[in-house]
Amino acid sequence: MIDHEHIWHPYSAMNSELPVYEVESANGVHITLKDGRELIDGMSSWWCMIHGYNHPKMNAAIEQQLKKMSHVMFGGLTHQPAIELTKQLLEITPAALQKIFYSDSGSVAVEVAMKMAIQYWHAKGQPEKQRFISLRSAYHGDTFAAMSVSDPDTGMHKLFKDAVAQQIFIKQPISRFNEACHKQDIDELEKTLKKHANEAAALILEPIVQGAGGMWFYSADYLKHAKRVCEKYNILLILDEIATGFGRTGKLFACEHADIAPDIMCIGKALTGGYLSLAATLTTNEVSNTIDHGDPGVFMHGPTFMANPLACTAALTSTKLLLASNWKENIKKIESQLKVGLEICNNFETVNEVRVLGAIGVVEMKQPVDMKSITEAFVNAGVWVRPFGKLVYLMPTFIVSQEELNKLITAVVNTLKQHIK
Ligand code: PMP
Repeated sequence: MIDHEHIWHPYSAMNSELPVYEVESANGVHITLKDGRELIDGMSSWWCMIHGYNHPKMNAAIEQQLKKMSHVMFGGLTHQPAIELTKQLLEITPAALQKIFYSDSGSVAVEVAMKMAIQYWHAKGQPEKQRFISLRSAYHGDTFAAMSVSDPDTGMHKLFKDAVAQQIFIKQPISRFNEACHKQDIDELEKTLKKHANEAAALILEPIVQGAGGMWFYSADYLKHAKRVCEKYNILLILDEIATGFGRTGKLFACEHADIAPDIMCIGKALTGGYLSLAATLTTNEVSNTIDHGDPGVFMHGPTFMANPLACTAALTSTKLLLASNWKENIKKIESQLKVGLEICNNFETVNEVRVLGAIGVVEMKQPVDMKSITEAFVNAGVWVRPFGKLVYLMPTFIVSQEELNKLITAVVNTLKQHIK
C-alpha cells in the first residue's frame, strides 16, 4: 500500500494500474518474490548485474571494505579502492584514455563528458564549439544534457524538447552490424559534421548498440567512419559505453568491434557488476591537459559521492571476476542460444524482427506490447522480462545456465505466441 500510494517507480504514474512485485531476495540468476515465487532474471536488473545476485566474492569484498570505510569525500583525499580500480580500468580500456573522472550514475557520466568537451574547446580558444551531434534513436540518460542528446521526438524526452539545449541529430545508421557502412550513412556523417564543424564540440554515440532508444545494432564500419570524420572536422568523439561495456556485445567494450578509441568514453551499469551505483568518464591526456591549461584551470565538476569506496571496491571486484571468467565463450554460447531459440518469433505475424548480438536478444514487435498482461504472463511463466514499447528483449546475466536461458527463451516465445494476437 505504501508503495502504491507514495513511491514513484521508473517512468510510471503514481496511480498506475501496472503491477509492482515485491522482491524478498535475489540469488544467482533468481529473484525471489515476497509471495515465494522464484523468477529467472532476464534483464540483469537493467543490464548491470552481470555475475548474478548475492555473489559470495562480491559480498565478501564489499563487507571487507565496509569495515574500513563506506565513504569519504574525494576532494583532497584519495583511497586504495579508487587507485586500484583506476589501474584496472587503464589496463582494459583503449590505451589513449588515461584520465578518469568518477561519478554516481550513467547520466551524470554523460553530463561530465559533455562538460569536458565544452571546457576543452573553451580552453582551446574556441568557446563557440558548444553544441553536440547525436543520432536519431539515441538514448544517453535522463538528466538535462543527456536528454538533449537523446532522440528528441521518438524518445521518452519528447515533453522536454523545448526545455533542453537544441542539439544536432543525424539519421540513425541503416548499416547493420556485420555490414560495411552504406554510402548514405557516410554521406550523412560527412555532411552534418562538415556543416556544424564550427559550433560542434563533440559527436556522441552509443557504439554498436543503440539501447533504450530502440535496441538497434549497427555497423562497426560506421564507427570507423565516425572517428575519421570527427578527426577531419576537429570534433571530439564521445562513446557512451554505459550499456555496452564489460562484455555485453561480445567484446569487452563495443568500440573494439571497430578498433577505434574515442576522445571521451562513459562507462557505468555493469562497471560494479550491478552492486552499487558508479560511473566513470575517461579521457585522453590531450583533453585533460588542455582543460588544465585553460581558464579556470580546473575541471568544473565534483559530486558528493565521487569515487565512493564501496562502489569502487564493487567495480574492482566485478571487473576482476569478469576477466578471470570465460566471459567471451560464455557470451558466444548465450548468443548462439538466443539466435537459435528466438528465431521462431520471426514467423509470428505480430513480430517485426528478431535481432541478436552478444548477450542481447531482441524481438521487435509491430505494435507496442500491453505491459500489464505481458508482465503478468512472464511472471506466471517464472521469468522476469520487462519489455518497453515494441521491444521484448533478453539481457541475461553472464552466469545463466543453458537450462535457465532456455526457460527464458521459451517464456518469451510462448508469451508472444499466446498473448499478442
Ligand atoms: N547511456 C546509456 C547508453 C544508457 O543505456 C543509460 C541507461 N539506460 C544511460 C546512459 C543512463 O544511465 P543511468 O540510468 O545510470 O543514469
